[in-house]
Amino acid sequence: MPTRRAFLRTSLSAASALALGTKSGAAPAEAVTFLGPDDAEYATARALYNGGIATQPKRIARCLSEAGVRQALRRAIDETWPVAVKAGGHCFEGFSLNDDGLVVEVSAMNDLRLDARTGVLTAGAGCRLADVNRFLLARGRFLPAGSCEKVGLAGLTLGGGYGLFARKWGLTCDHLRAVRMVDGTGEIRDSRDDAELLWACRGGGNGNFGVVTQLTLQTRPAPRLFTSWKFRAFNLNVREATTLLAAWFEATPALPRDAFSAWVMNGRQVTILLTTIGAPGDPGIAAFHHHIGTVTDRASAPGTVPLAQALPRYYGEPGPQLFKNCSAGFYRGFADLEAALPAVFAEVLHESGMIFQVNTLGGAIASGPAGAYPHREFGYLGEQQAFWENPAHGPARIAAAGRIRGHLAAAGIRRHYVNYPDLAFADWPTAYYGAENYRRLQALKLRYDPHNRIRHPQSVSLPE
Ligand SMILES: Cc1cc2nc3c(=O)[nH]c(=O)nc-3n(C[C@H](O)[C@H](O)[C@H](O)COP(=O)(O)OP(=O)(O)OC[C@H]3O[C@@H](n4cnc5c(N)ncnc54)[C@H](O)[C@@H]3O)c2cc1C
Repeated sequence: MPTRRAFLRTSLSAASALALGTKSGAAPAEAVTFLGPDDAEYATARALYNGGIATQPKRIARCLSEAGVRQALRRAIDETWPVAVKAGGHCFEGFSLNDDGLVVEVSAMNDLRLDARTGVLTAGAGCRLADVNRFLLARGRFLPAGSCEKVGLAGLTLGGGYGLFARKWGLTCDHLRAVRMVDGTGEIRDSRDDAELLWACRGGGNGNFGVVTQLTLQTRPAPRLFTSWKFRAFNLNVREATTLLAAWFEATPALPRDAFSAWVMNGRQVTILLTTIGAPGDPGIAAFHHHIGTVTDRASAPGTVPLAQALPRYYGEPGPQLFKNCSAGFYRGFADLEAALPAVFAEVLHESGMIFQVNTLGGAIASGPAGAYPHREFGYLGEQQAFWENPAHGPARIAAAGRIRGHLAAAGIRRHYVNYPDLAFADWPTAYYGAENYRRLQALKLRYDPHNRIRHPQSVSLPE
């Protein structure tokens, strides 16, 4: 008979081995909980930022560990269920849910560890951006990512990840050093043994091959201060909005890499945002001010605040929201957009609630590491948005968004950001990845998920 202390020691080490998913045993039941529509927690586990998506998975596997994810995959294989993967639940089109299968939900896998010497962050796949910001800023470090508080680090990074700091440091996926993934066959993959997996996860890893359980990312020293300005122009018609957008495209090349700018048309009003983590008096910033200040009606006084205070200003509205957002394409410059603008702006002016936005890319993004993200040569990214509270307003806004998509396509704008998907994009594989990258992703699909277990309406397909 073991002594009580020896018994406890054995039980505890067995328990921690199980929790860590080591070889000494199968995953414990609590590493994953399977929720069905009748379970009280199902609605929370199913919740998406897009409140208009009504899909109802058969089961949601709420996972606490890699071992739990593996167990969930094994059940899906046994039951021949398709699998969707959910982290932060912010996918515009709801690709993290499905109707007839299993959703592997990883939001509770949200551990964060920082190697203080190297600045390397190890993050569970369930971390949200605001948690990452808080954790890193308290330690003097920072990860360039997106703006919205509850966006999942996994979904954002696996599709690229850009924001106010990307011109300075590159995309979030450019900071990715390694991933661990349970693939579509239930096997654990580590990109340290497989460079192709890291390549894929830099822009092509969203719900395509398996469930990423852990991301390892290089962080940056946290910038101390953040400065922002807003310029506004009111009561614009199509011609005036076009002239203002042309002026913005002319002004942006002068901006230093520390800076970011967005041009946002909401009805008859345009707001131009300018931010920097560098010197507010930089000559490029001054040139931008001079250019844009003369063609807008009002400029806000510069506000310089500590970064930790600035970030929550961009955290956005809490979900769920009723909206239709999607990529409005990548551009090299104004000329790419010019032909589409009269029709696009007419839609924005005609249908209330429509927003057309162009953001600066370029800078360090242009020379990031190799990966599935294929749009590095484009200096600008467009996004169209429509929000509504009254469900009755949805159909007209969705229809207007569809017409805008058509005007852009007719003008030859066919490259799109995979993290701003739209079910109606024609030839989405080329639009998101480029033809060559897509073929390479398909070869990986065959390797990691030969039975197409992991899938959503725009996931990478098996090669023909
Ligand atoms: C309000 C809002 C603000 C946004 N702001 C920005 C921004 O500033 N910059 C930017 O680049 N993008 C932004 N986005 C887009 C965002 O990057 C994508 O929606 C992203 O995919 C969301 O990730 P998620 O984990 O929250 O979403 P989810 O819906 O959970 O997942 C999104 C996709 O990633 C897959 N996925 C999630 N977790 C895993 C995993 N562990 N393993 C494998 N696949 C996985 C899902 O299957 C799905 O296909 C924003 C979106 C919203 C709604």
